Amino acid sequence: MKTDHPFQFIRDFMALKVPGSERRKMPLYYRRVLVATNLMMSALFLIILLLGIVLNQHIEWTGIALLVIVILKSAMIDEMDMRINLLVHAVVVTVWSGWYVYTYGWNSGGQHFLLPLLMLIFFSVYVRPWTKMIYFVLLIAIRMLLFSYTLNHEPVFMMEKNIMVLFQTVNTLFLFVITAINCIVFSTSIQETERQLLIDNQELQHEAETDALTQLPNRRFIFDEMTQFIQDNPSAQFSLAIADIDFFKKVNDTYGHNCGDYTLQKLAASFRELSGGRYKCGRWGGEEFCFFFPEMNIDDAGTIMWEVNLAVSNLDFEFEEAKFKITITAGVEEYDFRSGLVEIIEKADQKLYAGKTAGRNRVII
Ligand code: GH3
Ligand code: MG
Ligand code: MG
Repeated sequence: MKTDHPFQFIRDFMALKVPGSERRKMPLYYRRVLVATNLMMSALFLIILLLGIVLNQHIEWTGIALLVIVILKSAMIDEMDMRINLLVHAVVVTVWSGWYVYTYGWNSGGQHFLLPLLMLIFFSVYVRPWTKMIYFVLLIAIRMLLFSYTLNHEPVFMMEKNIMVLFQTVNTLFLFVITAINCIVFSTSIQETERQLLIDNQELQHEAETDALTQLPNRRFIFDEMTQFIQDNPSAQFSLAIADIDFFKKVNDTYGHNCGDYTLQKLAASFRELSGGRYKCGRWGGEEFCFFFPEMNIDDAGTIMWEVNLAVSNLDFEFEEAKFKITITAGVEEYDFRSGLVEIIEKADQKLYAGKTAGRNRVII
């Protein structure tokens, strides 16, 4: 996302796309917020109703109706579309704020409950940006209307100072708890999504760099690594080798393709084991492997490749009933500080084929 403009987020917000109706499903975090908010609102309505009865000897039917609606909408949360859930919630909270301010005055603090509602609106993924802006403007207008109403009208019940403190305490507590619940659930959901994205990206990167069968670095990765080495160490020496299994087609033809796969896997594991950090080995393609020897001349790399060649010829391969041995042929080349990487690889390849024609099971240096 672009960050060049200080209010770029507004452009990004207005450009947000809402999923089509066939793909709408209430996210778990949103359901959690709605359920928790419904519970808190029910408790608040009940407390305020009881306070009204105790302090004013007056039963408020609007309050009772709102309480019943909240209980009903809690029970029907999964029956309603996410946008309907939000709309019903917005109506309940707005009516509640209006009724509360109308009954107990501006100092009752009922108008503050419009704020957590704003959070619910902006966090809804299925409400279009323009609809959110309309909600936003409406909430400001409702709050201002309530304020101007209280300027010209006395509340139904004038509260004494002590009672006002009681109402404020209850309201502040519920307002902050509801807001905190929204923040906790939404931020946890964002953090969890980011964490999951990070893990997915790492897995994707690993998959993009790794050969699925042998779990060795793939051709692209080992090539990039050598390119990077040249860039980072322009005056450093290195060697590379291309190795190819001898008569591998025969393994496939005689024992089957699965046995061929097993052979590649076992061979890759032994390359990894033999390395001891001296070289990096990747699957170059098919039954060919590339060995990269950082900061090593051709003689040292050749010695290691002979070691590898001998170790492979001593390996016992056992797959189901089959028992067999294999050999490899390799060509080794050293970086000459003039040629490009592709040329060096080509030279190693030519040596490999020279080794094949000379009778296989050998290392050409
Ligand atoms: P040479 O000594 O000349 O290299 O003979 P070769 O039989 O090893 O070479 P050839 O190029 O004729 O055959 C290579 C075979 O490797 C053919 C192909 O089916 C097999 N192969 C390549 N990749 C895989 C793989 O992932 N799994 C299996 N099972 N076989 C593979
Ligand atoms: Mg081969
Ligand atoms: Mg081959």
